[in-house]
Amino acid sequence: MNEVKTDIEIAQECIMKPISEIIDQLSLDKDDWEPYGKYKAKISLDVLERLHTKEDGKVILVTAISPTPAGEGKSTVTVGLGQGLTKIGKNAMIALREPSLGPSMGIKGGAAGGGYSQVVPMEDINLHFTGDFHAITTAHNALAALLDNHIHQGNTLNIDVRRVVWKRVVDLNDRALRQVVIGLGGPVQGVPRETGFDITVASEIMAILCLANNLQDLKARLSKVVVAYNFAQQPVTVKDLGVEGALTLLLKDAIKPNLVQTLEGTPALIHGGPFANIAHGCNSVIATKMAAKLADYVVTEAGFGADLGAEKFLNIKARYAKLKPSLVVVVATVRALKMHGGVPKVELKQENGEALKLGIDNLLKHIETIRAFGLPLVVAINKFITDTEEEIKILQNLCKEHGVEAVLTEVWAKGGEGASELAQRCVSLIDVEENRFEHLYPLDASIQEKIETIARKVYGASGVEFTSKVKRQIASFEKEGWGELPICMAKTQYSLSDDPTRLGRPKDFTITVRELRPSVGAGFIVALTGDVMTMPGLPKQPAALRMDVSEDGKAIGLF
Ligand code: ADP
Repeated sequence: MNEVKTDIEIAQECIMKPISEIIDQLSLDKDDWEPYGKYKAKISLDVLERLHTKEDGKVILVTAISPTPAGEGKSTVTVGLGQGLTKIGKNAMIALREPSLGPSMGIKGGAAGGGYSQVVPMEDINLHFTGDFHAITTAHNALAALLDNHIHQGNTLNIDVRRVVWKRVVDLNDRALRQVVIGLGGPVQGVPRETGFDITVASEIMAILCLANNLQDLKARLSKVVVAYNFAQQPVTVKDLGVEGALTLLLKDAIKPNLVQTLEGTPALIHGGPFANIAHGCNSVIATKMAAKLADYVVTEAGFGADLGAEKFLNIKARYAKLKPSLVVVVATVRALKMHGGVPKVELKQENGEALKLGIDNLLKHIETIRAFGLPLVVAINKFITDTEEEIKILQNLCKEHGVEAVLTEVWAKGGEGASELAQRCVSLIDVEENRFEHLYPLDASIQEKIETIARKVYGASGVEFTSKVKRQIASFEKEGWGELPICMAKTQYSLSDDPTRLGRPKDFTITVRELRPSVGAGFIVALTGDVMTMPGLPKQPAALRMDVSEDGKAIGLF
């Protein structure tokens, strides 16, 4: 029987090049890199200094329609397009996020692309990789331990233990740790208080590592993190505790981006992986900037749909990194658009042009959003074997009517060759299309104005409701001098509205902002529009049940 190979089977069949050969392709010096085993390397930040005056390569941002359980394949298209650019003779590089063990052991399985468009060594990337997440976890928990020790040793900062906001983290889905009581057992065991655990990707330190431009910037951002409030309700920061140096020391290697390769040998920097709801959902600024110094074309990705990941890439990351993307690729699948048009998951294999036409409204809204940023774009149709020719034609024609090209890609089945046409179109669109990129709001707009701009222009909302708690928070944040930070919206990824059941392109809705959280170190204000899960749970049948290791040490079941 001709069975479809799993991602891990395809990845394990790949004969990887030693990482030194990938390094050679990039014209790096011998002191620019350190090997981490045979197929991974960390790249020194000195490269950014040395190539400071070199012109940047073109950055192509891959985003998508609103995600559905049918899957969109953003990472797969990102890797496939990088391979496609290499295939057509361009000097290309990929910048991606590092996967988190929480979703990998839970629902998702691996997260390093799929089919014939993957980054390898896939097992390492999905497991402990080069230890960055462990370093971030340790830095985060070191801060928690130092904070609790400060309280135990006399609490000269007058920290109100009921107002400690810094929790602990672990890179697993572990619902039992969401709320815990620590310090039990009498005076020598510390001061009892309630706290909890978040998953490592939700740590502010993850967001900081991904937005820092260099080691000094990392330290400056870490020092601004608010960990608690004192009895006068004033913020207490890492600087007040005097531990920013120790935290930076713990991260001195994690800040260096990790070089690996795709199945076809295109170089890829994989670095950092913040949540796309309470954080900005993109790989590190350092990795994207370094890739832009080392290659002529960089393909990078932002999490969830364009309303979340791309909006934050363009309003937060691009602003801090002074990056100007050259083109946006919006990934869409016929399957997911049919779901947006009302088709249940079990019926997706049947042709349904009518539902597809309805669902395309979701794609059109995201296209409008990218245009609002003044950027040129192209739609990539990520082909699934169940898509019919008729359906693909409907999608292409409707896009054409709206002045956008929709290019069919078969990266999952064919690797880079399946993206040759997309790669060609990207190159020529970058050359001919006008690029009037600008952020959607200025930083000196008020917090309300910034949130309203995102809600109206990106979500298509008719307005925003701010709870009375949020109104009070806005006043106090402005007093603290945090009013000029960009906004990081935490909203459901499934809908353009704040109601996850409203698929497609909802109309006539308002967004309710329920709470603000200052991520002053990372450099943004999080606006929560609903409950956001910062410590996910595992499903009844976790992906971990399929995982194993063979007698000769080969990973099994990592998808
Ligand atoms: P995202 O980045 O949008 O979360 P991924 O690229 O990680 O999505 O893909 C999720 C899963 O879907 C992967 O296991 C991948 O192999 C699979 N996938 C992606 N594109 C296709 C396709 N065209 N056909 C079949 N499976 C696909």
